[in-house]
Amino acid sequence: MLDKKVSKLLNEQINNEFYSAYLYLDFANYFEAKGLDGFANWYKIQAQEERDHAMLFYQFLQNNSEKVTLEAIGKPDKVFACDMDVLKAGLGHEQLVTSMINNIYAAAYEVKDFRTMQFLDWFIKEQGEEETNANDLITKMELFGSDPKGLYMLNQELAGRVYAAPSLVLD
Ligand code: MG
Repeated sequence: MLDKKVSKLLNEQINNEFYSAYLYLDFANYFEAKGLDGFANWYKIQAQEERDHAMLFYQFLQNNSEKVTLEAIGKPDKVFACDMDVLKAGLGHEQLVTSMINNIYAAAYEVKDFRTMQFLDWFIKEQGEEETNANDLITKMELFGSDPKGLYMLNQELAGRVYAAPSLVLD
């Protein structure tokens, strides 16, 4: 049995990760409508990763005989003034998710729940990478986005992103 608070936070994280997937699909929607299919591809793959994250939390709870409760997923309702706003919202969202993961880790640490801490280690590292990726995208956009040829090349680069299953696998 997991600690009540830890279990509740892990449960909530399933929803948070699915919301992330939803949010990134919305970002992809925004770029699809603008004809920037590479950016749309990048966020669609990001959404796939978030679904994977949700399933890892789901599986971890089930593996520990914890009841999984699925709540309604929030509606992504942000309106963006420009492309850069989307990218910045992405970074802001990842920073928020990092704080959520840290919060669960802190709760597990408090009750010496080493199993959950070990599970979360992967997510701690993953969040570092997510923030780096979001930051890199903003930097590239700042450098090349204001020039049509630069934007075209960047869009082509992002079109090349392919889905890779997470390196963390739960039986
Ligand atoms: Mg995630």
